[in-house]
Amino acid sequence: MQTIGIVGAGQMGSGIAQVCATAGLNVIITDRDDHAVKRSIEGIAANLARMVSKGKTASADAAEALQRINGSTLLTELAACDFVIEAATENLQVKEGILRTLDAIVRPDAIIATNTSSVSITRLGATLTDPSRLTGMHFFNPVPSMALVEVIRGLQTSDDAFDVTIGLAKRIGKTAICVKNSPGFVVNRILIPMINEAIFVLHEGHTSAEEIDEGMKLGANHPIGPLALADLVGLDTILAIMNVLYRDFNDSKYRPAPLLKEMVEAGHLGRKSGHGFHRYP
Ligand code: NAD
Repeated sequence: MQTIGIVGAGQMGSGIAQVCATAGLNVIITDRDDHAVKRSIEGIAANLARMVSKGKTASADAAEALQRINGSTLLTELAACDFVIEAATENLQVKEGILRTLDAIVRPDAIIATNTSSVSITRLGATLTDPSRLTGMHFFNPVPSMALVEVIRGLQTSDDAFDVTIGLAKRIGKTAICVKNSPGFVVNRILIPMINEAIFVLHEGHTSAEEIDEGMKLGANHPIGPLALADLVGLDTILAIMNVLYRDFNDSKYRPAPLLKEMVEAGHLGRKSGHGFHRYP
């Protein structure tokens, strides 16, 4: 495996590009928005420079990693890739549209993985002529520092595609857990309802966002509080995942907190918009 294609140059696509390039793979990162591509490559350059200044990477290695990354707004640039990772906005129609386009562009023997947080891998696989080549490759944010990747097998995923995806996760220094397709997979099914519950507690006025986060950090030994984590993940992404859990399990225990919906309607998406449950000036 030599060249990885990435669709979506947001926070996740950029992190995935960085870890792949650092592991010696060539990367083509694409986005429909050329500013996103530019921002992504600038952000990766800044991250690598920070790693050099902290002595975590040699400056020549960082420069080589950066050179291995190319950006584009054209999905056709991914035609020769060995493995393509879809990391665009968490929206079913967007992902189905991208996969249909990739189906016609990407080499028939290349594996396609999706970094979706919640959409069914089996459902996304059905958009491809050959559903056996789709896997779930669910990274965690921030990608360079989070060790886990959930590798998800849809109903029609082939053993070969699954094994190659696990191999790639290991090659880029991650620990993979193997998961069968089901709503929220493993980590988000447990984590996101906990964050949603923290938003209910805030909305009901029992205490402040700061106290909720402090409580869970000191009382549950979490490295970051649930509301700060929601801001880091992006409130639009949290809402999208809760909506999928609610719809797919058809169980009211997964109903999204009304305050979460309102925050998203207001454009308060967390760190990426500068305003979430906390402020990021
Ligand atoms: P983001 O909003 O930072 O980036 C999404 C990018 O996708 C944007 O740059 C957007 O321009 C691009 N995009 C949208 N439609 C596109 C299209 N048709 N073609 C090409 N590019 C398109 O979002 P993110 O946080 O990077 O999340 C991306 C994916 O990763 C989502 O599926 C999300 O659920 C998943 N994910 C997110 C996290 C997290 O903590 N944020 C963790 C794991 C997985």
